[in-house]
Amino acid sequence: MFPHLASPILIEAAHQFGTPLYVYHAERIRFQYQSLKQAFANWDVRFFYAAKALTNLHILSYVDSLGCAIDCSSINEIKLALRAKVASEKILYTSNSINFTEIEEAVALGVYVHVDSLSALEKFGKRFGNSYPVGIRLRPNIMAGGNLKISTGHASSKFGIPVEQLDQVLALISSYNINVQTLHIHTGSEIKDAKVFVQGISLLLDIVAQFPNVSAINLGGGFKVPYYPNEKGTDMNELGQSVATLFMEYQQKTGRHLQVWFEPGKYLVCEAGYLLTTVNVLKENEAQRFAGVDTGLNQLIRPMFYDAYHHIENLTNPLAPVNTYTIVGNICETDTLGADRSMPAIREGDILSIQNAGAYGFQMASSYNARLRPAEVLYKDGSLQLIRRRETLEDLIQTQENL
Ligand SMILES: *Cc1c(COP(=O)(O)O)cnc(C)c1O
Repeated sequence: MFPHLASPILIEAAHQFGTPLYVYHAERIRFQYQSLKQAFANWDVRFFYAAKALTNLHILSYVDSLGCAIDCSSINEIKLALRAKVASEKILYTSNSINFTEIEEAVALGVYVHVDSLSALEKFGKRFGNSYPVGIRLRPNIMAGGNLKISTGHASSKFGIPVEQLDQVLALISSYNINVQTLHIHTGSEIKDAKVFVQGISLLLDIVAQFPNVSAINLGGGFKVPYYPNEKGTDMNELGQSVATLFMEYQQKTGRHLQVWFEPGKYLVCEAGYLLTTVNVLKENEAQRFAGVDTGLNQLIRPMFYDAYHHIENLTNPLAPVNTYTIVGNICETDTLGADRSMPAIREGDILSIQNAGAYGFQMASSYNARLRPAEVLYKDGSLQLIRRRETLEDLIQTQENL
C-alpha cells in the first residue's frame, strides 16, 4: 500500500496555487510502475503508458524517465511525446477512425503503428508493402470493463478488426507482403478480473501461428484501480503469474518466444492525482445538505459521464464530527461530484480533495460555462512544481476572430 499525499502538502498547494487545482504525486506514479514491473518479472514484458489518461509534458517526461514507453491515441499525442523528448522507438500509435495521412505522418516520425480496420491495413500495404512493420488491432468479442461506455472489445464495438474477418486480414497481408509484428487487443477499462486477460491471450495464441512475423502480443490497458476505500483493483500478481505461465507453456510447445506488451493508462496515474476544490456555498433543504464547490463537470466529468465514484476528503476540517453532504459543482448542470457522503463537517472555505483524479481528469476537462481550466502541479522530490498554469480569459478568446 502506498499512502496518500499528506494533507499539509495538498493544503500548501491549494494556498500557493489556488483552487481548483490538480496535484500529481510523482512518487506514486513510480510506485505503480515498479509494482507492474515486479508483477510481470517472470516474463518478457514491455509497458507503454497510455498518454491519453494524462498528457502533460512533465508527466510524459517523468514516465519516460522511469523507463516506461508511451502509447498514443492521436497524432498530437505523438507530437507531445516527442516534445517531451521521448525517443520515437519508444512510441506506439493505437487509434481508430483516423485519416490515413495520420498513419503516414506517424510512420514518417518513426513511430510504431497499430491499424484498426481492414481499410487502413490495405492502405498500409499499398503504401508501405513490407518496408515498415505494423501491428493489427483485433476485436476479440469479449465483453469486459467497468461499464459499457468503457468496454471496447465486445461484439458490437467499433474498435479493432473483428476476429471473424481473420481470412480477409491474412489475404491482405499476403497480397501486399505486409510485415505484421504485433497483434493487439484492448478489451476495455477497469477490468478487475485477471481471467478476462487470460481469455484474450488464449484467443491470440490460437491464431498467432498464422502470423509468422509476429514477435509481440499487445494486450492493451484497462487494469482496474480501487476508487472506493477498501475496494480491490486487478490482482496484478495473479495476472503476472498467468501471463508467465501461458506464454512459457506456449514457448515450450512451439519453440516460439512472444514478448508481451501492455498499455496501462489509469493504473499508472489515477491514484497519483488529486483535484483540490474550495467550498463556496453550503445549502440545506429538507432532504439534503449541499456543499457547492469551485469545480464541476467541466473539470472532472467522470462522476457524470461514467457514474464513477471518487472519494472526497475534507482537508481543512478533518477532526470535526461527521455529517452527510452532497458535493455539487458550480456548472449549470446537475454536476454531483459525490452524493450523500459522510464526512467531517464542511464549512464554507474548506478545501476538499477529490481523489483518483490523475487519470481522465484534467485531460477530459473543457471550458464549458466559460470556466477556465485549472492549473496542474507536480509534487516531486519534496517540492511543488507548477506544470501548467491556470487558464485566463485570454486563453478562451485567443482562437476566436475579433468582433
Ligand atoms: C484507453 C486505452 C488504454 C488505456 O486504458 P486504461 O484503462 O487507462 O488502462 C490502452 N490502450 C488503448 C488502445 C486505449 O484506447
